[in-house]
Amino acid sequence: FGIDNTDFTVLAGLVLAVLLYVKRNSIKELLMSDDGDITAVSSGTRDIAQVVTENNKNYLVLYASQTGTAEDYAKKFSKELVAKFNLNVMCADVENYDFESLNDVPVIVSVFISTYGEGDFPDGAIQFEDFICNAEAGSLSNLRYNLFGLGNSTYEFFNGAGKKAEKHLSAAGATRLGKFGEADDGAGTTDEDYMAWKDSILELLKDELHLDEQEAKFTSQFQYSVLEEINDSVSLGEPSPHYLPSHELSCNADGIQLGPFDLSQPFIAPIVKSRELFSSNDRNCIHTEFDLSGSNIKYSTGDHLAIWPSNSLEKVEQFLSIFNLDAETIFDLKPLDPTVEVPFPTPTTVGAVIKHYLEITGPVSRQLFSSLVQFAPNSDIKDKLALLSKDKDQFAVEITSKYFNIADALHYLSDGVKWDTVPMQFLLESIPQMTPRYYSISSSSLSEKQTVHVTSIVENFPNPELPDAAPVVGVTTNLLRNIQLAQNNVNIAETNLPVHYDLNGPRNLLAKHKLPVHVRRSNFRLPSNPSTPVIMIGPGTGIAPFRGFIRERVTFLELQKKGGSNVSLGKHLLFYGSRNTDDFLYQDEWPEYAKKLDGSFEMVVAHSRLPNSKKVYVQDKLIDCEDQVFEMINNGAFIYVCGDAKGMAKGVSTALVGILSRGKSISTDEAAELIKMLKTSGRYQEDVW
Ligand code: FAD
Repeated sequence: FGIDNTDFTVLAGLVLAVLLYVKRNSIKELLMSDDGDITAVSSGTRDIAQVVTENNKNYLVLYASQTGTAEDYAKKFSKELVAKFNLNVMCADVENYDFESLNDVPVIVSVFISTYGEGDFPDGAIQFEDFICNAEAGSLSNLRYNLFGLGNSTYEFFNGAGKKAEKHLSAAGATRLGKFGEADDGAGTTDEDYMAWKDSILELLKDELHLDEQEAKFTSQFQYSVLEEINDSVSLGEPSPHYLPSHELSCNADGIQLGPFDLSQPFIAPIVKSRELFSSNDRNCIHTEFDLSGSNIKYSTGDHLAIWPSNSLEKVEQFLSIFNLDAETIFDLKPLDPTVEVPFPTPTTVGAVIKHYLEITGPVSRQLFSSLVQFAPNSDIKDKLALLSKDKDQFAVEITSKYFNIADALHYLSDGVKWDTVPMQFLLESIPQMTPRYYSISSSSLSEKQTVHVTSIVENFPNPELPDAAPVVGVTTNLLRNIQLAQNNVNIAETNLPVHYDLNGPRNLLAKHKLPVHVRRSNFRLPSNPSTPVIMIGPGTGIAPFRGFIRERVTFLELQKKGGSNVSLGKHLLFYGSRNTDDFLYQDEWPEYAKKLDGSFEMVVAHSRLPNSKKVYVQDKLIDCEDQVFEMINNGAFIYVCGDAKGMAKGVSTALVGILSRGKSISTDEAAELIKMLKTSGRYQEDVW
């Protein structure tokens, strides 16, 4: 080969450039991989149009997710576009991009938006919200989009973020293709709402883009390779790469871990105390105290604690068994597409992923059934699966109403025949990610600065359709119960716990009663002026933040008295509800608080299941105390509601509308408008779920 000097120089320059490029990207990836921003990093830009163009994408799916639900549906939708139409789809979190070039994105964009709080956008979508809400008329006239909002109709501002996005995109001249989809978690129809919306959108896209539909065929976004040996960089279920032995935690000189602790990385918090608050035959409620002193986490009274759970040993075993998987298999995943990120630390093991990162219990979606058809172990099962995945009523009867999780459902369909035909990549990409569960903090940051208390009711009930089957259980609350028993030296073998856990965690990270947690800020705050009257309504575990509020006021008063001040507190009226007297939470604490608050605290209790008594709810008690409640609201009281969003929060709102309407001699519509104004101005706050 005749290479002259010029050729050599050019070639050397090219090699150097490639090396530098690869190195720059890998250094950046290394630096950024912890916050999951791989998509933007690997293309070196946050400019959305540029990333789409550089990666030759012909469809864009964006999501703004608070707890992972919008993300889950966005990913399902993207997968279906790939499987059915072979599109080259980019699915991205709005948090990772800049949108100034949105009008230049050369493809159709599907947007999935969750609503959080008072009709708000998710935390990570603030910039996106800012951009679309300030887009000038006509500035998005090239954009063709469709929109799916995820919300809950029991909240005042149902699908508020989705509606806001729709209003502003349309005002900026963007063209919506198909209808604005709205999922309603309050009615329990999110999955069916999604299915109906996406079927109509897929039909429309088929015409609009002249797409040929193929038989759905799963294409993995990852290269999956099996490894031979465990080493220090193999994750055994550590909640983030920071906890691998090959990493170092970032600490200050005093050994305090610096975080940040959020959805991308939790703090491993010791549980310093836990106890059973009541124990009836069929229900348990656990009080748990987490010590945050080894971290720089600060919380405020009224915030939420996110607990990162793991699946129980029984459910992991059941899942491994139906898919005939070996828990010990070590594997690595590498994205085949630079716009895709691996959703958990890798390399890892099959057992670790199933235990720590996948939501393997919980209801099954019809969408998952339809994408599993291609992997059915034989043609009979395939036909059954295909039929059920198309028939929403039959699916509801045969699967949903029986509280089946995915392993139960597949076992039922195949009569125990293993589903070893399902590739591991499919499971990793189709089973939703495990998400942290949130709890209203029941301590006060004034009285216990670095200890966070949580009050949780254990989710465990007999399967109503299948009384002989295992009970229906929640992941986190049963884990908290297991820890509470272990911590109090109860012999677990002698209990009838429905599920058991690996309490030591990966590489003993959680040994001696620890759990991964982070704090999420909320807007649920006492009025800053302590003389403002306060009405609190919180039945069941809805009492949690109010215990925090009252402890806050007690400590405040003590500090004031110590400092020689004589502050007079406004009236603090708490409406609490429990079934009977056995499940009355923190029963012995309240009289003590009342004594310390010098008469400014009063508690009104409703019982809904006292023997031989009529059912009484907090709403009824509000009406009983109508005059006092009206007077307090008239005197500027702040109103707080916490607990069940479906029945209680609505009932309370209706009762308060009645009280205002009668008290002010106005119509119920006018009173409802007043309540709305109180909500908008922050004088009526809800922490409901
Ligand atoms: P999950 O595993 O999430 O299960 C949820 C429910 O589904 C359970 O009832 C479970 O039995 C049922 N289930 C399981 N499998 C299936 C199936 N296959 N089909 C159908 N159903 C199934 N809770 C509190 O107790 N105290 C609080 O202070 C509190 N504060 C909260 C604050 C906020 C802001 C939010 C959003 C929620 C709050 N919650 C609180 C609720 C809490 O976050 C959890 O949802 C709850 O504890 C259940 O969690 P889990 O992991 O045990 O159940």
